[in-house]
Amino acid sequence: MIPDFCIKDKVIVVTGGAGAICGTMCRTFGEAGAKVAVLDLRQDFAQKIADEITAKGGQAIGVACNVLEKDSIETAAEIVMQQWDRVDVLINGAGGNKPQATTNSQVSFFDLPADAIQWVFNLNCLGAMLPSQVFGKIMAKTGEGCILNISSMNAFRPLTRIPAYSAAKAGINNFTQWLAVDMAKNVSPKIRVNAIAPGFFIGNQNRDLLIDKETGELTERGKSIINLTPMNRFGEFEELMGATLFLISPASEFITGVVIPVDGGFSSFSGV
Ligand code: NAD
Repeated sequence: MIPDFCIKDKVIVVTGGAGAICGTMCRTFGEAGAKVAVLDLRQDFAQKIADEITAKGGQAIGVACNVLEKDSIETAAEIVMQQWDRVDVLINGAGGNKPQATTNSQVSFFDLPADAIQWVFNLNCLGAMLPSQVFGKIMAKTGEGCILNISSMNAFRPLTRIPAYSAAKAGINNFTQWLAVDMAKNVSPKIRVNAIAPGFFIGNQNRDLLIDKETGELTERGKSIINLTPMNRFGEFEELMGATLFLISPASEFITGVVIPVDGGFSSFSGV
């Protein structure tokens, strides 16, 4: 039997869908014939991606959604249900760090403000849990569905300077396993929960940490990452799509609770 990677006509909801990684995902889903709900705090940017997809003959809607407010997620879910009357896949893509939660030569761990720590922790952890409640409940009605979380290298071994982001992404790995078990045992064995853990991809959140604004050269941190990546380069966003399609398609129907690194070997390398 040839494995089935097809996602045509699947209704796929993507939070943070206007972002660098999830925008790429949305466009690919659109080209593959899925019905794409692009959810983002920034509705105008979500709509722009939806418009790009429909201009190419695909099906998409841009929907305002704050993943930290259950009312906002429920309103977004109503819009998706009015449009397509089902949800097959949820990608929990909204996430990120902020400079105020990052240590540097002037600001130590002791000085990080509680509100910045909480902001990062909530966005990356609670921001996956609440949409999983709302859209998971919709999947429970049909007894089928896939949830895909976006973890990070920080989840396996914390990177320096970003303690809240590291702890939150470690929480996402644990939550991926927890929810996979809960869904399979208590809701339906056909609702699967997995994650991908991207290695290093230059995006809005990390550009300043990896590339010197003035010279355009790699920062010391950027150089360390490349030295610790056996494939010796940053990833391209499109390279996340193989693992993503695998985990949300019937090809992986007996797989739940896993986190697949897409990292050029970073998580396997001890550095020596
Ligand atoms: P990005 O900043 O380009 O996109 C994040 C999107 O989330 C933005 O469009 C933003 O508007 C949206 N967002 C922020 N807060 C929100 C909220 N409360 N509700 C709804 N939407 C909200 O980030 P990205 O680089 O594309 O990252 C996407 C995911 O991948 C994140 O979870 C990130 O932590 C993870 N990740 C990124 C990298 C990387 O190298 N870029 C590596 C590992 C993991």
